[in-house]
Amino acid sequence: MTTSASLPAVPASELPGATVTDRLVEANRRYAEQFSDPGMDARPVLHVAVVACMDARIDLHKALGLQLGDCHTIRNAGGVVTDDTIRSLTISQRALGTRAVVLIHHTGCGLEALTEDFRHELEDEVGQRPAWAVEAFRDVDQDVRQSMQRVRTSPFLLHRDDVRGFVFDVTTGLLREIDPLS
Ligand SMILES: [Zn+2]
Repeated sequence: MTTSASLPAVPASELPGATVTDRLVEANRRYAEQFSDPGMDARPVLHVAVVACMDARIDLHKALGLQLGDCHTIRNAGGVVTDDTIRSLTISQRALGTRAVVLIHHTGCGLEALTEDFRHELEDEVGQRPAWAVEAFRDVDQDVRQSMQRVRTSPFLLHRDDVRGFVFDVTTGLLREIDPLS
């Protein structure tokens, strides 16, 4: 068995005229050729759920030394704990046995460049304001603390004591832990 990370991307020159999705589908075909059923249970081996920003520079499995099957990965813009993140964590804990939660935000996040005005700009453009908050932030440390607090106070979660938050430095690859109380 291999992972997609060990296979090079399909170069554009190999598939002239192909869309990016075509390239992904071709990469998958090659991946499946070398794939063998790992026979795994759906429950994460390490009983951990990682909530992280969707930023393309963060290779979560490599950065955290994770293997296939080790964890649940929940990603969104900012790695913020929204109602939908709580939905996934609740299913992760109650149906699939995870007990620890790791939150990862990062330096240079796109959400630092936005404000809640983004919603109003959308409303001006399309005539409808989204129901969701942008979850923009100015202070990444404080945003990690807020996310930890949202997990710790959720009534739906079974396990709220092992919750730790970090900022990933996209230039060094290092995590910096955030003290929830400072
Ligand atoms: Zn980000």
